Amino acid sequence: MPVSNGHRVAIVGSGPSGLAAAGDLAKMGYKVTVYEALHLAGGVLVYGIPEFRLPKIIVQNEIDNLKAIGVDIETNMVIGKVLTVDELFEMGNEAVYIGSGAGLPRFMNIPGESLKGVYSANEYLTRINLMKAYKKDSKTPIMHSKNVAVVGGGNVAMDSARCAKRMGAENVYIIYRRSRNEMPARKEEVEHAIEEGIIFRTLTNPVEILGDEKGMVNGVKCVEMELGEPDASGRCRPVEKPDSELVIDVDTVIMAIGTSPNPLIRTTTPGLETNQRGCIVTDGDSGMTSREGVYAGGDAVTGAATVILAMGAGKAAAKAIDEYIKNKN
Ligand SMILES: Cc1cc2nc3c(=O)[nH]c(=O)nc-3n(C[C@H](O)[C@H](O)[C@H](O)COP(=O)(O)OP(=O)(O)OC[C@H]3O[C@@H](n4cnc5c(N)ncnc54)[C@H](O)[C@@H]3O)c2cc1C
Repeated sequence: MPVSNGHRVAIVGSGPSGLAAAGDLAKMGYKVTVYEALHLAGGVLVYGIPEFRLPKIIVQNEIDNLKAIGVDIETNMVIGKVLTVDELFEMGNEAVYIGSGAGLPRFMNIPGESLKGVYSANEYLTRINLMKAYKKDSKTPIMHSKNVAVVGGGNVAMDSARCAKRMGAENVYIIYRRSRNEMPARKEEVEHAIEEGIIFRTLTNPVEILGDEKGMVNGVKCVEMELGEPDASGRCRPVEKPDSELVIDVDTVIMAIGTSPNPLIRTTTPGLETNQRGCIVTDGDSGMTSREGVYAGGDAVTGAATVILAMGAGKAAAKAIDEYIKNKN
């Protein structure tokens, strides 16, 4: 156990970013408490990325190692509801690190998105991975679907599709509006999905989700696309082909078209600057925010990115927080 330096720091969120910051600060002698909204620590590593890609025992071992060096992890603690960032300071913390991720799903705003059988990828993956819906005796409700459409072309879409297949779906479609070359998912993830029989409907864009008289999804209406000139992202802009409507028969649609940070922290923390995308604004690599003593990093700052970037930000902020507290005292 590291020797205590007598100072306290609070961390919001127990994803890779929060845990990396917690570990480094605890090793420097800080009393660190991590506040996690869910009932289990680990962030996307436990609720999003499936067991077949990242065995949860690995994450649990890392969490146990942090506890062994004195890090307290308080679960079921939604900061912004149970306690505010200001209250964390009132409790004696000298700095707060916000690593609350980007867990708010985006939807397409097309007709039919409120039908039964439409999930955000986050909800679908959380039900399966965190709430263990894949277990035969699980009480977590989930659709046992025959035909599933996953909308999107990133890692999250690939994970959702491969989970749907493992949950027993016969046909799982990836619907993506650009071509395979533009897919943001890692090449390996796309290859694994193909090996597992996922059907790729690229250059295809949903325009409406169709339902039956009971409000259950029974299809997704799409249009065919073709690639035009490159857009601001540098990728070719998908353009709708005239008279190209088609319907794919599905009973479940999973939206995996991106996420943004949940507004709870920014709306309950006065003076915390955020940008148009709802991400916390920081000063360079230090993670310093517009609020004194408040640091932030990971997806909460960058928007949905990667584990390694989130961990790097947590470690950089731990260093900056240490300097801040030492200079202050
Ligand atoms: C399905 C999926 C697959 C992915 N695959 C890969 C991959 O293969 N490789 C890769 O590098 N990256 C991958 N990513 C991205 C990667 O997981 C994230 O970039 C990374 O987890 C971000 O870490 P973070 O700590 O910033 O946030 P998160 O991991 O999102 O953790 C944030 C934590 O904060 C908690 N929280 C939120 N709000 C509050 C609050 N108000 N109070 C308390 N706690 C709060 C959340 O519950 C969560 O536990 C994937 C993401 C998903 C969703």
